Amino acid sequence: MPAEKILVVDDSADMRDLVATYVLRPNGYETLTANDGRRGLELAREQFPDLIIADMKMPQMSGLDLTRALQDEGRDIPVILITAEGSEELARQALRTGIADYLIKPFDPDELLKAVRRTLALAHAKRENVRMQAELAAANASLTLRLKELETLAGVGRNVTSSLELDQVLAKVVEAAVNLTGAEEGALLLLDEQTDELVMRATKNFDESFARTFRLPSEDSLAGQVLRTGVPVMVDESTPQKIKTQYFVRSLVYVPLAVRGRVIGVLGVDNRHTKRLITEHDQQLLQALSDYAAIAIENAHLYTRSETERTQLDTVLHEIEDGVMAVDDEQRIVLINRTACEAFGVNPADAVGHPLVTVIHNAEARELLSGTGRKGEITLEDGRVFNAHVTPITKVGHALVMQDITQLKRIDRIKSEFVSTVSHDLRSPLTAILGYVELLSRVGPVNEQQAEFIKRVRQSVHSITSLIGDLLDLGRLEAGLDARKEATLLPLIMRYAVDGLRQQSDAKHQTILLEAPADLPSVLANPLRLRQMVTNLLDNAVKYTPEGGAVRLAARAEGDQVVLTVSDGGIGIPAADQPYIFDKFYRASNARSDFMGTGLGLSIVRSIVENHGGRVWLESKPNEGTTFTVVLPKYKKEEA
Ligand code: ADP
Repeated sequence: MPAEKILVVDDSADMRDLVATYVLRPNGYETLTANDGRRGLELAREQFPDLIIADMKMPQMSGLDLTRALQDEGRDIPVILITAEGSEELARQALRTGIADYLIKPFDPDELLKAVRRTLALAHAKRENVRMQAELAAANASLTLRLKELETLAGVGRNVTSSLELDQVLAKVVEAAVNLTGAEEGALLLLDEQTDELVMRATKNFDESFARTFRLPSEDSLAGQVLRTGVPVMVDESTPQKIKTQYFVRSLVYVPLAVRGRVIGVLGVDNRHTKRLITEHDQQLLQALSDYAAIAIENAHLYTRSETERTQLDTVLHEIEDGVMAVDDEQRIVLINRTACEAFGVNPADAVGHPLVTVIHNAEARELLSGTGRKGEITLEDGRVFNAHVTPITKVGHALVMQDITQLKRIDRIKSEFVSTVSHDLRSPLTAILGYVELLSRVGPVNEQQAEFIKRVRQSVHSITSLIGDLLDLGRLEAGLDARKEATLLPLIMRYAVDGLRQQSDAKHQTILLEAPADLPSVLANPLRLRQMVTNLLDNAVKYTPEGGAVRLAARAEGDQVVLTVSDGGIGIPAADQPYIFDKFYRASNARSDFMGTGLGLSIVRSIVENHGGRVWLESKPNEGTTFTVVLPKYKKEEA
């Protein structure tokens, strides 16, 4: 630390010598001397001493006057006054004038040194205090500024997340860029991919018509450089660089605007007139703002895309011939298209958001959407029939899609009627064939080969007869004939069915296990049809199980239902065939060539089960076996 400088002002040369030369200097202080207040003042102005020791009484300017003069000039130099006599009045005066201390003659050197040290220490502390205050004020000002910057950034951020108005958000970004950096003007330039030029998308303080027509070639400009490199550029007058902005600026900064890693534009501010410097900090602020702008652009992009997709979906849903409707988990309608509205006679505005039960009066549609059934037919009041599917949709609820099958139904009916008429008409000629075949052997001897041919003709007539029987049955079932139902005991039906197939199973050395509790509740059914259903299932089980195998026929009560299962250890049904196995004439790939059959048995089973308000399904593994399960509702007294 350099030696402290002390100015000694006294008209007595002895005193000056004593104080400066013999007391202060040996104690490490640098000294200056003056023989009068006026000279002292001059020296103080030129040399900036740390402390002045001044005599009270001097011919031209007293120590007190010197102190006052210094204070008037705003010089904060502590003064120790030396006086010949001490009095209360002097003390008061000294304090009022701001004298740091005073010594009364005679004083010894130690006393002087003590006063000097004390005063210097105090002055030092005071200076430190002032410096700290100034630092604090500066820190405070910088914090306030940062706070303001953060508030502005947060404001822009809020705007970005809450507004889908891209133009408005970008204008706010550029405005904030200009406000935060204190620059004269700012602009957000985006690349026009078609022309490879940068165009002003948002500006602040630019002339509007200039901004509208402004185009900057991306190849040959500073902004273009930022676009290509993704690195910000800062330019001021000292930068030895040709500024290609197409307008004259003194300083500018451009930062890249990147969306998903691709730079698509730049954000920049500049000064055309003032010499205001642009700092690194300005650049950082701009980058933060540019990132916000990128988010806004990306949001707008995503929004436009999802809007377009939504509109497309809306149009598809609206125009589609199929009826589409969706309900949420609270059974409120969330979507309904034109076809569905028209089918159920509802106005879309009165449907969406409303409970299904208050809007849709069709019981079948309501049941499909709220029940467990996934497929079904919906018959409208005007006679139209729709085939409907219900699909559970994650986070939405359930969607119902329905197609108008009225026409198909009509054709199906015509076909059934035709089949039934033809089948009927075929019976007489078949009876004739069978009759005459039987008579053949009676009218004369037939040789072995003829007998074999007769056997084959008989077999073929039998299989055509059984096909006709199945077809007529199906026709009757589909037409809803045989509707008469009564409380029927399933175990009895099962027994009859087993007895009826005994011959076939014995021929294949199979065992049929029959398990039905005696107290099994009865079902409301047409006994003949029920027997036909059980027989068909059992017949298949026997037919598709190899010799020596076992077939199990079981029934049990479960809640309000009676469950019948027919299991076998047979050839099984390949998974690919299972969805179609109940269709008319459908035969699984592993059965077609080796087993005789019409492919109608299971269609009849399904028709009968559905006619009885039940359900049927199967579980099967090829070469392991198959289980058909039929669930029928229990008979309740009041139903009869
Ligand atoms: P089919 O007269 O051909 O037996 P069904 O309608 O009764 O006609 O059965 C349709 C098809 O389902 C059969 O052709 C066969 O492929 C398959 N199937 C039915 N039951 C069984 C079973 N128990 N085991 C294996 N396949 C079966």
